[in-house]
Amino acid sequence: MKGAEFIIREQAAAEVFIPEELNEEQLMFREMTMDFIKTRIWPIVEKIDKQTQNPDLVPDLLSEIGDLGILGAGVPQEYGGMGVDFITECVLSEELGKSLSFGVAVAAHTGIGTLPILYFGTEEQKRTYLPKLATGEMKASYCLTEPDSGSDALAAKTKAVADGDHYVLNGQKMWITNAGFADLFIVFAKVDGKEFTGFIVERDTPGLTLGDEEIKLGIKGSSTRQVFLENVRIPKSNLLGEIGKGHRIAFNVLNIGRFKLGAMVMGGAKRAAEVALQYANERHQFGVPISSFGAIQHKLAEMAIRTFACESATYRIADLIHDRIELLKSQGVEPAQAKLQSAEEFSVECALLKVLGSEVLDYVVDEAVQIFGGTGYSEEYPVARYYRDSRINRIFEGTNEINRMLAVGQVLKKAMKGELDLMGPAMKIQEELMSIPDFGEEEGDHPLAREKKVVAQTKKAILMVSGAAAQRFMMDLEKQQEVLMNIADMSLEVFTMESIILRTEKAIALKGEEAMEQQINMTRCYVSDSAERIHLSGKHAVCGIAEGDELRMMLIGLKRFTKTEPYNTIALRQQIARYMIEANAWCF
Ligand SMILES: Cc1cc2nc3c(=O)[nH]c(=O)nc-3n(C[C@H](O)[C@H](O)[C@H](O)COP(=O)(O)OP(=O)(O)OC[C@H]3O[C@@H](n4cnc5c(N)ncnc54)[C@H](O)[C@@H]3O)c2cc1C
Repeated sequence: MKGAEFIIREQAAAEVFIPEELNEEQLMFREMTMDFIKTRIWPIVEKIDKQTQNPDLVPDLLSEIGDLGILGAGVPQEYGGMGVDFITECVLSEELGKSLSFGVAVAAHTGIGTLPILYFGTEEQKRTYLPKLATGEMKASYCLTEPDSGSDALAAKTKAVADGDHYVLNGQKMWITNAGFADLFIVFAKVDGKEFTGFIVERDTPGLTLGDEEIKLGIKGSSTRQVFLENVRIPKSNLLGEIGKGHRIAFNVLNIGRFKLGAMVMGGAKRAAEVALQYANERHQFGVPISSFGAIQHKLAEMAIRTFACESATYRIADLIHDRIELLKSQGVEPAQAKLQSAEEFSVECALLKVLGSEVLDYVVDEAVQIFGGTGYSEEYPVARYYRDSRINRIFEGTNEINRMLAVGQVLKKAMKGELDLMGPAMKIQEELMSIPDFGEEEGDHPLAREKKVVAQTKKAILMVSGAAAQRFMMDLEKQQEVLMNIADMSLEVFTMESIILRTEKAIALKGEEAMEQQINMTRCYVSDSAERIHLSGKHAVCGIAEGDELRMMLIGLKRFTKTEPYNTIALRQQIARYMIEANAWCF
């Protein structure tokens, strides 16, 4: 499977990895991380959030988790890390997503802080910094954003000018996670104000100063400050990568960052759903637990369905990246480069997962507050913090708008470069639209046969809409943001829908249909609703693309390609909720 190929190709269940297949070592990492979070983080979340009163707390906890090897899990052994496989890294991210602000500090350090050196550093830079970053002896931050350049990151004004054996940096960075305690700053600046380039700046370099801690809506335990650079002289040996190639560092590191953020928010959603479930079982109104009410059962089931779907997509992507890494390594590519190239290959999937996960978490925490009622609004209960902390995920690592457009833009770029044959399948769809509907083969008796058919059909809907958009707008398509956003939403839905089906299908093959009854129910609910959402996004898009008879024909096609057989989703959700209520814990 190549990057973005899911739009035109179907994957077999046997080809995907599902979390039910995690091996003992991966489960051991999960337990170790969870143990740390349960004993060292959860009991002091309030203290962590009052970080201006306890500025050493988060860095000390980072050192502690560094001693366990978790900060260096993804760093190769030769540089002092553990060099675990990519799926294990995914497991770690999932668990760290349950640690609120602390997880943000870990992610910034291990991801955007450490990876630029691992991927683009010279051998000397790697030997100097990676062992210290892997243990947490040094803490890292990543300075891309500026007051006037956020989404438009390449418009940065920070300047680097050569002066003998040094570069002199001047400028201002904003919203820098971990800035308050970082020993190392990955800074992007333009050489002579023109060539966007990466640099490594150490904390004690004269001229580097910090703004006050930002007063934020959430993740209050995460340090976020401005970084000022005034005549900061750094040796030329601290240039990162090549002059003028800083965008390669900045954007490639974000591919992995987006994937890991997707895994983290999925972990956070599991936790929030579990806490809400336990409260719903405890809280009585009208003489019964509120979990016995249909309205609450709907919420509990839907939280689980979306989170389970997101988990299925997460591990599917982790496996695609993992397999690509192993393939490249077997061809002699150095491990860090193999990881970099693999994440780049699946950049579309990484961007979509970031959008999916952050929006699933926002949904889950919002419903968690609702289930808690008045106590959901109180700082004495946990969900108010979940709610606040969730919101940032739609903003950083590229806003969800930017990630949606980036995903579709990448697909179109791959098609134009001939790496993805969109035109052939899109033409076939046009022919199909002109012909008498063929409802295809019989569905077969697999419990998810209907759903598999929906995936195949909804892929046609994406091809129809994107083909029509490309024909109508041609080179102007990139300016048609509303159309692109709708195509992104359709792609996101189809990828997720396919992921949940493949996961459940494989789990049935491993454990039997009876054991997977609730997973089948979740898959049916998800697919049924997802097809409706695809229909709506498709309708918005085609109404902006075509008119008259052409529009009417496309709307008919869209209806045909998003058709589902009705299920009693109320009954399915009741079954899912009852199963959860009985377990009183995350149970999928
Ligand atoms: C708590 C926190 C921590 C952060 N940590 C870091 C860090 O460690 N390092 C770092 O470098 N940065 C960090 N950031 C910055 C973050 O990455 C940016 O905030 C983000 O990229 C958005 O940039 P912006 O805030 O300037 O918003 P803007 O770019 O001004 O965007 C504002 C709105 O306009 C939309 N928009 C912008 N451009 C377009 C477009 N072309 N088309 C359509 N819509 C558009 C956006 O989607 C958004 O909705 C952090 C931010 C926060 C709040």
